Amino acid sequence: MKFWIMKNKTILFMALISLISISACNSENEKQLITTNEPGEFFYQTEQFAEYRVLRYQIPDFENLSLKEKKLLFYLYEAAHAGRDIVFDQNYQYNLLLRKTLEEILNNYKGNKNEEQFHKFTEYCKRFFASNGIHHSYTSQKLKPDFLENFFNELVLNSPNASYPVNDFENLEEYFVLIKKIIFDEQFDAVKIASGVGQDIIAESATNFYHRDLTYKQVNDFYSNRIDKNESRPVMHGLNSKLMIDKQTGSIYEEVWKYGGMYSDAISEIVKNLNLALNYTENDKQSKSIQKLIEFYKTGNLKTFDEYSIMWILDKDSKIDFVNGFIEVYDDPVGRRGAFQSMVSIRDEEASKRTEIISRNAQYFEDNLPINTAYKREKAVGTDAKAINIVTVSGDNSPAPPIGVNLPNSNWLRTEFGSKSVTITNIYDSHLEASKTSGVIDEFAFTDEEVERAKKYARTGGNLHTDMHEIIGHGSGRLKKGVADPTTSLKNYYSPLEEARADLVALYFFMDPMLIELGLVETLEVGKSQYDSYFRNGMLTQLVRIPRGGSIQQAHMQARKLISEWVIEKGRKDKCVEKIIKNGKTYFVIRDYEKVRMLFGDLLREIQRIKSEGDYKAAKDLIEKFGIKVDSELHNEVLYRWGKLNIAAYSVFINPQLIAEYKDGEIIDVKVEYPVNFLEQMLYYGKKYSFLPTIN
Ligand code: ZN
Repeated sequence: MKFWIMKNKTILFMALISLISISACNSENEKQLITTNEPGEFFYQTEQFAEYRVLRYQIPDFENLSLKEKKLLFYLYEAAHAGRDIVFDQNYQYNLLLRKTLEEILNNYKGNKNEEQFHKFTEYCKRFFASNGIHHSYTSQKLKPDFLENFFNELVLNSPNASYPVNDFENLEEYFVLIKKIIFDEQFDAVKIASGVGQDIIAESATNFYHRDLTYKQVNDFYSNRIDKNESRPVMHGLNSKLMIDKQTGSIYEEVWKYGGMYSDAISEIVKNLNLALNYTENDKQSKSIQKLIEFYKTGNLKTFDEYSIMWILDKDSKIDFVNGFIEVYDDPVGRRGAFQSMVSIRDEEASKRTEIISRNAQYFEDNLPINTAYKREKAVGTDAKAINIVTVSGDNSPAPPIGVNLPNSNWLRTEFGSKSVTITNIYDSHLEASKTSGVIDEFAFTDEEVERAKKYARTGGNLHTDMHEIIGHGSGRLKKGVADPTTSLKNYYSPLEEARADLVALYFFMDPMLIELGLVETLEVGKSQYDSYFRNGMLTQLVRIPRGGSIQQAHMQARKLISEWVIEKGRKDKCVEKIIKNGKTYFVIRDYEKVRMLFGDLLREIQRIKSEGDYKAAKDLIEKFGIKVDSELHNEVLYRWGKLNIAAYSVFINPQLIAEYKDGEIIDVKVEYPVNFLEQMLYYGKKYSFLPTIN
């Protein structure tokens, strides 16, 4: 599970100092035009395009690592990017075809690059890279191009190598017909993940996890037959394959992503680099777990993956850590198949002290959860909670890395062995630093008191929310005996419900005086500021991520909406949270924090019950009623107010680049560089890490 930052949570530090100051008298050097407040200081934001701002992050103290550690990081970094192509193909069967076309044009177009049409084309490309494909990563909708269809002809015909993808087609004509449908036909493969009422969520989704002839019923039947409900340690069926159907015989089978199977060309590069990394590991546990991961990539056996996950959980000492595999299932309409992702990291020793306090007290939190005792863990498994700084991200984790992660996702593994939970210091700090100029809080908070509290406690509260969400949120609770796997029973409602559960645990404990006793906060005002921001976000600001007339599709967003709306409704009688409209602007104001806390507890109890019992009907009712629908009038108002602030709704990141220096074929040093151009980095990756065929 992963946890993103929501834009408005990050914009709490309101110092009206311009992050990017352009000095008029400093014209001798182009580069110096972009400077931070103090000379030599790292600058976090580089540009803004469409609905995105582009941020950078630093790797603290990289220079002070030993050569051995740098080499280990370097090969893990290479293994991460080796899998980059996979996620494009998983997202949509023609993404690589389109990506290669776009890359060829960007690299080799001979026409005028200064004309307006070309700028519009470039913006489309950036949006494409921001979502790893043609469907928006948050809304799931196909991106709409601003440039003209005729201009696209010109682009292709004036880019010498743009005919490269054409090799997969009979002739140029056939290629043009398809590629134009992909870009310009709004109806063609319009959504990545269908979730509308009455839709066949498999047949109508453009994701490439299922053969396009398959239906929801066929997929469901296939796994119902395969899965033994009494199995206490089930593998995550379908996690590493595409489900296919043989048109002749009608038989359904899995095409496994492995060395020698689907995506083999990328996977063999991953394996090659993991093997090289083995020469520089920190300890025996780390070596063994990497060997196991290699075995998994070679066999595709999901039991091997579980064995690997156990070894990974139990390796708690390594300072350098990484995830590389098919992990999160949010992009599968039925939550089964894992998107490729990789994240390479170094432990943040200082911040880890905070997460360790929470982890050490996991039993206190578990015992005090406001849920049915039968669904509490008698012995809270020691979640390994750390703070990390990431060195690089790839696949599904890039270019928008999460700020927290809790893995593995397998429920029985989590119950028996616990999980590793991390918050990501350098990404969170980058969000905060880059948000010094905004105005969101002042716009959406009702009272000065609320604004002040928000500004004062943003960093403490934000970090703590992520920590608690991951460590004692996802890490808590247990299933009823006989309920094997709630992902199977709750289907597409599992992810939003699980995110809501984790958020509710964090929210519930935010007003617990125990936090002061443990030294995690100095005052419960931190909790109040988190409550304020939760409603502002859930009811108002997160709506800026939804296109006009749309509904909420993303799991974390559905969770926030569900919780806010539910609490408002249940607390209406007592006026716990008041909806105020002043000068045509809507605000949600908490009048009774203690009652709100109790309502968070009530909802948590119900959601834990649903998860523990696998109660599909109740899950469906809750999410459909509170989590998806948007009040269109309010939505329009929020879009209008947000528009006046001129802020991007999403962030994408440029990764640092590791450059190895060789002498006589041996690495003698690894340097880190911080590129400043998002699109250039995408093209660099495209050149260096393209391993898969155009159509797989
Ligand atoms: Zn989560």
